[in-house]
Amino acid sequence: VNESYTTQTCSYCHKISDSSPKGRAGLRIRGWTCAECGTWHDRDINAAKNILAVGLDRLAVGIPSV
Ligand SMILES: [Zn+2]
Repeated sequence: VNESYTTQTCSYCHKISDSSPKGRAGLRIRGWTCAECGTWHDRDINAAKNILAVGLDRLAVGIPSV
């Protein structure tokens, strides 16, 4: 799982918002509001949702459809 963008990508609309936390300064931010859809995210919870979504995608790819 590439965690580089998980804190920056909106788990609701899946866009990297201009208002999302970035770089070293972003690590201090507890939460942010997506500029695209207006959803408020807790930084850690949003990252967890994105990591989960990536994991589920890989799981779906790994299971051959019969
Ligand atoms: Zn959004």
